[in-house]
Amino acid sequence: MNIKTYALLIILLCGNLSILAQSNGGDGPFSQLIIRGVTLINGNGAPPMGPVDIEVINNRIKSIKVVGYPGVAIKDSDRPQLKEGGKELNCEGMYLLPGFVDMHGHIGGKAQGAEPDYVFKLWMAHGITTVREPSGRGVDFTLDLKRKSAKNEIVAPRILAYTGFGQGSDATISTPEMAREWVRNNAKKGADGIKLFGAPPEIMTAALDENKKLGLRSACHHAQLNVARWNVLHSARAGLTSMEHWYGLPEALFEDRTVQDYPLDYNYNNEQDRFEEAGKLWKQAAKPYSDHWNKVMDELISLDFTLDPTFNIYEASRDLQRARRAEWHEDYTLPSLWDFYQPSKISHGSYWHYWGTEQEVAWKENYKLWMTFVNEYKNRGGRVTTGSDSGFIFQLYGFAYIREMELLREAGFHPLEIIRSATLNGAEALGMDDQIGTVTVGKLADFVIVAENPLENLKVLYGTGAIKLTEDNTVVRVGGVKYTIKDGIIYDAKALLKEVKQMVDAEKKRLNYQIKQPGIPE
Ligand SMILES: [Zn+2]
Repeated sequence: MNIKTYALLIILLCGNLSILAQSNGGDGPFSQLIIRGVTLINGNGAPPMGPVDIEVINNRIKSIKVVGYPGVAIKDSDRPQLKEGGKELNCEGMYLLPGFVDMHGHIGGKAQGAEPDYVFKLWMAHGITTVREPSGRGVDFTLDLKRKSAKNEIVAPRILAYTGFGQGSDATISTPEMAREWVRNNAKKGADGIKLFGAPPEIMTAALDENKKLGLRSACHHAQLNVARWNVLHSARAGLTSMEHWYGLPEALFEDRTVQDYPLDYNYNNEQDRFEEAGKLWKQAAKPYSDHWNKVMDELISLDFTLDPTFNIYEASRDLQRARRAEWHEDYTLPSLWDFYQPSKISHGSYWHYWGTEQEVAWKENYKLWMTFVNEYKNRGGRVTTGSDSGFIFQLYGFAYIREMELLREAGFHPLEIIRSATLNGAEALGMDDQIGTVTVGKLADFVIVAENPLENLKVLYGTGAIKLTEDNTVVRVGGVKYTIKDGIIYDAKALLKEVKQMVDAEKKRLNYQIKQPGIPE
């Protein structure tokens, strides 16, 4: 019996409609929802402000009302009144942020054995209410989930489908005409954009031009195979709207070479080669604040080009042990996903054939130069978004998104700049800032509510919370998102996480499986 039938049966037995709302894991939407007494951290860079009452009618923010002052009792007379059929959520002392936008979220994958329900719940448990999928299992698969999510038939963030360029085509796209036709078809199907991995210049030019004409947006992972002839600057000039990761950026910054300093026995299909040499790439680029570095940065900003760095997905490169011993693996990582992460000549991103101190130190240096660029890009007015790319390299859905925020902090972002990057900047990059991205009257009701102040410690956003020692010397966990609200529907974030743990427990029981560290004999 599947869950839906089971839920239906319970409803029939109990005749209780409130269970119906529970069956999708959420509560609502309501004709009126009042979130009371919360401190608002908006996505526009504004400092925290509270207490406020936020009134939502169905799925639209109706009013945001300051109802008092810190430390002073709230006067009831000043507050929005609850109407019949309405719902109140008392959030006094808590913090409310706009729903998070994950700009790089693959909805699981067959190789990882990660099904959408598992991935979606991990995302929603971490306040992610919008996800851009930069290529996945195919446009039809993603669009089906997108429709279900839009109707809130499933527990899932709102989804934007950026189809992998060429996906679904029988032949390799080898001419500009073929590229244009594929792009037109993709738009006709209802996709929101395209995700490219690099291609010959004439194909990139045609695809980006056609896509732009149709009013769609685009993302590109500039794979090393095409980057010598076409780097991010070429893409930005041709109309690409966002770059993923960082490849193609050092190449745009080259001054004394035109290709990466590859060892002569390098093989791109050997991922130890690929990732180890990538760790030496930033130092081959122009130095921070040099003329060339400045010129490239300023041109990208003038083209309104978005950087989606996905810092977290490379973190195992500089600290493998940290990534593989992350405390959430035990409870929330599926056996199939854990297997997929193990060193392998086959699985993508499992490149530690022999990963040691030398590789990690090189990557630490790589990060410094990369982060310097990203932070200064933000300082000069460039748009930087928050994206995770989970499901690879020990990075787990939801958790990795919070780690991405921490890495933006390390890059030099003020916590308020991070929240803006995770909300308004994402919304802008998707062309949805009139609907989501800030808590503004008229926008959709997508919120994250957490008991602790996330600006003070971003770790409170992790599902596992932050470690804290109390006044009486007791170790406790604080935080973890309390409510994720999407489309005016309230989800108990901790309950979602519990469901994920149950899925993982069941799978471990079925397989008699235990998470073990790589290569240790039985
Ligand atoms: Zn990706």
